[in-house]
Amino acid sequence: MAKYDYDLFVIGAGSGGVRAARIAALAGAKVMVAEEHRVGGTCVIRGCVPKKLMVYASEFSHSFETARGFGWTVENPRFDWSAFLREKDKEIARLSGVYVRNLENAGAELVHGKARLIDAHTVEVEGHGRATAGKILIATGGRPWMPKELPGVMHAISSNEAFHLTELPKRIVIAGGGYIAVEFACIFNGLGVETHLVHRGANILRGFDDDIRTHVTEEMGRRGVRVILSTQHTAIEKTDTGLMSRFTTGHFCESDVVMFALGREPYTEDLGLAAAGVKLDERGAVVVDEYSRSSVENIWAVGDVTDRINLTPVAIREGHAFADTEFNAKPTSFDHEMVASGVFSQPPVGTVGLSEADARHKYGKVDIYLTRFRPMKTAFAGEDERCLMKLVVEAEGQKVVGCHIVGPDSAEMIQMAAIALKMGVTKQQWDSTCAVHPTLAEELVTMHQKHVPQGLGQAA
Ligand SMILES: Cc1cc2nc3c(=O)[nH]c(=O)nc-3n(C[C@H](O)[C@H](O)[C@H](O)COP(=O)(O)OP(=O)(O)OC[C@H]3O[C@@H](n4cnc5c(N)ncnc54)[C@H](O)[C@@H]3O)c2cc1C
Repeated sequence: MAKYDYDLFVIGAGSGGVRAARIAALAGAKVMVAEEHRVGGTCVIRGCVPKKLMVYASEFSHSFETARGFGWTVENPRFDWSAFLREKDKEIARLSGVYVRNLENAGAELVHGKARLIDAHTVEVEGHGRATAGKILIATGGRPWMPKELPGVMHAISSNEAFHLTELPKRIVIAGGGYIAVEFACIFNGLGVETHLVHRGANILRGFDDDIRTHVTEEMGRRGVRVILSTQHTAIEKTDTGLMSRFTTGHFCESDVVMFALGREPYTEDLGLAAAGVKLDERGAVVVDEYSRSSVENIWAVGDVTDRINLTPVAIREGHAFADTEFNAKPTSFDHEMVASGVFSQPPVGTVGLSEADARHKYGKVDIYLTRFRPMKTAFAGEDERCLMKLVVEAEGQKVVGCHIVGPDSAEMIQMAAIALKMGVTKQQWDSTCAVHPTLAEELVTMHQKHVPQGLGQAA
């Protein structure tokens, strides 16, 4: 008789949990997955996918403007928020169903309810009792962090609720400077909402290359987002006509909706991890080694709950690597170097590798190649929008260690650039690649002149 009810118990059916469960089940393991909300997790239900659909919806307003420059007459286009939400929810339900079927087809069992550890081998699922497992995977993701002490915080929403607003607001204040805040500011602005983005730092998109941060701020401003830096909320008050945000600078601003996108925290509360002896860091993330194994020998954790790189493809690869290691006899650790990512702002950002500042810190001497230009399409339509492309090259070995783009399709371009950077491409090899014409991307392979920051002379 088997020692445990299951070979693997996965807590959380999001990106990382579903991939791990599927691969383990396909390898012949007896797998149970517990999900307290909807299968698909943050990415499918309240993250990447619905967000990208909202980005698409919001981009049309700018496309209509550009179309005019090409001779089109675009008369009185209107947007129906309710109709969009209905279709969006249908698509999310379809995708969640695909995830459920994938689990079932692989032979994994699924139980709906909140799960918590009783000890290192026992999991209790609310309303379903207890089960034992030889191995346990924590894949519970993260959740929005809210400033609980702020007066009036109960009037504010997080990104979770932004996907289900019953009405499209006329005015919104979004607090935060990370990619989620920036993306939502562009979404609401594109949908015609008066949008204020308020951030306590001196610039948005901390962690990104400084030229990218400044460029995105300028371009967002050009499109109509009011970006207010170096301030934060002191209170939110309900008024007869909306919500009054009060700020540290003494300024105030009334809006219909206040959204906080101030960061996310690993979702480890009430999971019983202490009972099982699983070590957490100071942010509440599960501490793991390169194989995603926790401080307890038979418990692993993948995805946002480990707070390494909080992106869907990373959670998927960590989950896959865990399952290959433990159930396919293929020891695999995911390499967190050179992970590319996109910010679906308007215009969007694609980035991979080191920022200029990080590269200078790591290598000392770096060569910078940078170009700013007006894309043919919008320039023709009389718009002033600018693209930015930047390569960071470590001076000694001439390896390209960073590539950063702001402009149309940059998130698509960066996927390809990431292959080259991951392979250790040198600037000479990069330049030997012939351009595709006429494209924006060709500018990437035609940057031959080193960039000298204003005010600095060229070294002799
Ligand atoms: C607004 C937004 C936009 C984003 N956009 C992007 C993007 O464009 N690109 C990108 O790569 N990433 C994006 N992300 C991040 C991405 O969604 C996450 O990195 C990814 O979903 C993490 O996967 P995960 O498996 O770790 O966790 P999740 O997908 O969060 O899954 C965790 C699951 O565990 C369940 N759960 C939690 N606790 C329990 C419990 N005790 N019992 C049972 N079930 C439990 C949860 O309900 C959830 O379904 C975005 C995130 C947000 C919030």
